[in-house]
Amino acid sequence: MHPDLVLTNARLLDPGSGAFLPHDTLVLRAGRIAGFEADAGAGAEVLDLGGAVVVPGLTDGHLHPVSGAERTAGVDLSRCTDLEGVRAVLAAAVRELPAGQWLRGWGLDPNVFGDRPVSADSVGPVLDGVPAAIDLFDAHSMLASRRALELAGIDGPRRFEQGSAEVVCDPAGRPTGLLLEDAACELVEAVAPRPDFEELCRATAEVLRRMAAAGLTGGHAMDANGESLAVYAALEERGQLPLRLRIAPWVQPGTSPADLAELVRRQGEGGRRWRIAGAKLFMDGTIDNGTAWLERPDCHGESTGAFWPDPAEYTRVIGELHRAGVPTATHAIGDAAVRHVLDAVEEAVAAHGKGAVRHRVEHIETVPDDTVARFAALGVAASMQPTHCTEYTRADHTDNWSRRLGEERANRAFRCRDLAAAGARVVLGSDWPIAPFEPLGVMAGARHRRPGRDLRQPPHLPGQALTPLQALAGYTLAPAWVAGEEDRAGRPAIGHRADLTVLGQDPLTVPDTELADVPVLLTVSDGEVTHRAV
Ligand SMILES: [Zn+2]
Repeated sequence: MHPDLVLTNARLLDPGSGAFLPHDTLVLRAGRIAGFEADAGAGAEVLDLGGAVVVPGLTDGHLHPVSGAERTAGVDLSRCTDLEGVRAVLAAAVRELPAGQWLRGWGLDPNVFGDRPVSADSVGPVLDGVPAAIDLFDAHSMLASRRALELAGIDGPRRFEQGSAEVVCDPAGRPTGLLLEDAACELVEAVAPRPDFEELCRATAEVLRRMAAAGLTGGHAMDANGESLAVYAALEERGQLPLRLRIAPWVQPGTSPADLAELVRRQGEGGRRWRIAGAKLFMDGTIDNGTAWLERPDCHGESTGAFWPDPAEYTRVIGELHRAGVPTATHAIGDAAVRHVLDAVEEAVAAHGKGAVRHRVEHIETVPDDTVARFAALGVAASMQPTHCTEYTRADHTDNWSRRLGEERANRAFRCRDLAAAGARVVLGSDWPIAPFEPLGVMAGARHRRPGRDLRQPPHLPGQALTPLQALAGYTLAPAWVAGEEDRAGRPAIGHRADLTVLGQDPLTVPDTELADVPVLLTVSDGEVTHRAV
């Protein structure tokens, strides 16, 4: 256990009230906030914060540390805004690539294709003969080169248990290279080389170190895929786990009763800072890929179906998990998907009582008013990623996402403010590696609704901007509540966890457009300093 840590000359901000506490000292002992008087024992470390602002540790409500570390090991295409840029970056990577090796890429924005199809042919000859697998930014789809398709033995359409999974083919039945959803991408993943365990640990440790430096003390990890759990255990063992992680393993269509029982049994398993908690499900895919589930098709006639081929089966699984006390987090982007998730929770509550379980919906990208109103009534948290709106769609609706939806539905997008106003708990997060994980950047995006890379651009649906206090609550109070931990996390109160983020300026009064640049001076997780710049 670490010796006491005493923070003096501190301004202690309570995200519950938005006010500063009438104390300037904080004593951390045995991983908890022990008091507000400097009564620490001998050997205590005293840090003078020079008037800096202490907020409860920032927790990202939706991220993927291990799979993200693996994905982002490849070529970064996230900064390419046109096809020419993509080709240039790929060409440079191919020049460096030893013959026969795979090229991995990530962060590809479908908007770079403009009106062309997202396909290997559209990218052009740069990948000829190269086995390449490139993740689109949403991580729900992949662009495979011709050589990669060949190595994976993909030569035509396939059928999958995941309703929206697809090997996209041209009218002649020839695969275009675009693979939709996990099950289809997995065909290529299975033949592409993977990092070994040590490489994965190293990459994840580095990502977590950067997350702590950005002010994160915790996160809700939305998958336990691959070797994730073993990586978390190994990193904790080595003292390289600076974030407190709640991990929700996936429950996919076709999950057997035995697998479901096993997931229920494993709840709570973990170490000191990582824990299996809850389950992650998908009700649809994404708008950009045409795999979301909308009440009415998009302008391409797509996004018409559920991820679970039989949505009633999803409802049954939610009922079972609810009865077992397992909180669920369901990816639901389209209006029909969100409605179905809420219906399923409503049914589960009617059958088994409300209990202490707190369910949540992830993303909620376009929903009508009556759906917004249901969250608070059902006690379902809205888990939002505002930078998916501000970074990947445009205020003038010329982007792929907006064009597919059309004006009416694109105008009821990412309704953070409406959900909060309707009494829903709004949990904020990045969904890293989909968007950058820096929490101040996400909170800033939630406030100014502009792309962080160009703040001169007009805001996207400024009426959905969160207030500074709402944004801060989205990273503190709300993630604590949805975890059922509001009695021990999310506020600067005695007995609460010693998870703290120290900022150079007051996040509530700094202008929205300057929040992302506020220095993170100190991060403390579980009483341990995980980042220090003072
Ligand atoms: Zn995610």
